[in-house]
Amino acid sequence: MGPLTPGGERADLPDAAASTTAPGEANGSGIDLALPCIHCGLCLDHCPTYRALGRETDSPRGRIYLIRAQAEGRIGLTDNYIKHLDLCLNCRACETACPSGVRFGALMESARERLYRAAPQRYQQGSQGELLLRHLIARPALLRAAFALLRWARPLLLGPARALLSPEQRNFAAMLPPTAGGSFSLRAKPVYRARHERRATVALLTGCVMDVLFDDVHEATVGVLRANGCDVLVPRPQSCCGALHAHAGRGEEARAMARRVIDQLGELACDAVLVNAAGCGAHLKSYGRLLAADAAYAERARAFAAKVRDVSEFLAALELKRPPKAVAARVAYDDPCHLLHGQQISRQPRELLRLIQGVELVDFPEADACCGSAGIYTLAHADLSLQILDRKMAHIAAAAPDIIASGNPGCLLQLRLGVARAGLTCRVVHPITLLAEAYGA
Ligand code: SF4
Ligand code: SF4
Repeated sequence: MGPLTPGGERADLPDAAASTTAPGEANGSGIDLALPCIHCGLCLDHCPTYRALGRETDSPRGRIYLIRAQAEGRIGLTDNYIKHLDLCLNCRACETACPSGVRFGALMESARERLYRAAPQRYQQGSQGELLLRHLIARPALLRAAFALLRWARPLLLGPARALLSPEQRNFAAMLPPTAGGSFSLRAKPVYRARHERRATVALLTGCVMDVLFDDVHEATVGVLRANGCDVLVPRPQSCCGALHAHAGRGEEARAMARRVIDQLGELACDAVLVNAAGCGAHLKSYGRLLAADAAYAERARAFAAKVRDVSEFLAALELKRPPKAVAARVAYDDPCHLLHGQQISRQPRELLRLIQGVELVDFPEADACCGSAGIYTLAHADLSLQILDRKMAHIAAAAPDIIASGNPGCLLQLRLGVARAGLTCRVVHPITLLAEAYGA
């Protein structure tokens, strides 16, 4: 395989890693990331919370005003300030829409980090979100046990015990995959050899939630890669990448998690580190920025980030063998925000789906809009999350697909809930699952 082109964050925007006040830097406010905003408002109609709530303070421009005002000491850490920052999905649709190059994702992370440092007790993610962030995500054994129990209990939670649950807990139970799986990383071999002549060697990030709830997607990913001449390394142990912590302003924890991942995967002899979870991929590609102020890790973080690829990005560049089997279905592809806005990847997953005989890709309005999942947003802000989801499901229902495809675990869970709420019968799958079916992998 030839040399990789540099991955990472958008090359056409000012370098967030070069920000004099990047997250993690001592005394940094991150406020220089807000300075390119010219207040034009072109981002407003792309913002899901502005569309839902109609308030300037819940728009990107309004949030930028608030962040600047707070950093410059013109307002304090008021309850309203916290609320408007917290309601942002960090979907980064505003970043794509912005003509002025505002790196909103990095700005929001740094503003939330200042907020969390100054008032950790006042900036919380709801009881279930806190349970995940504090106790489960970074402890693989506990996470596995918790989700295994939840999947086993799913019929009970959706049946006799339903009345005992809060609306958020009911939604969460409805999202869980219906069949009990297991952790892929526990049963995986260290290396899966290419089925034919080897064209590349890749490492697979197994992640945290992806590993325990979507082990079938990891199996499918390995199958498609092997069918196309890749040796696949599955290193153990692997830790959570820290994306959810970074989005929630827990910068210190996020940086510690990033260092761990770099220690585990950074020195592997491989052409690329592949990720099939868009949120994790976008975050891994930002490690250079995240650890820019860490003398011991800055260079390693940049080198590691440059090797990270979303699995669709990697496969589309590989010139795939045509899959032999057909999947006769109308497929609606929904863009994960952190693939589209975080990694500028929208063409590749669609190209891969078009490779499959029998697949008819159906367009629907606002496929590029957030589904309301946004990590743990569904748990922390259930009402608004569902309002945003229902808008998307109305568009999808009108397109009448047989299958909804999306490449991120949060989106898969949320869209599954959306299908149930809308009374639809479509399957909700990762694109790689359909490819694996077409390869018989
Ligand atoms: S990140 Fe998404 S929710 Fe937040 S301000 Fe930008 S468009 Fe709105
Ligand atoms: S589009 Fe960019 S420059 Fe215009 S208001 Fe939004 S963030 Fe500011």
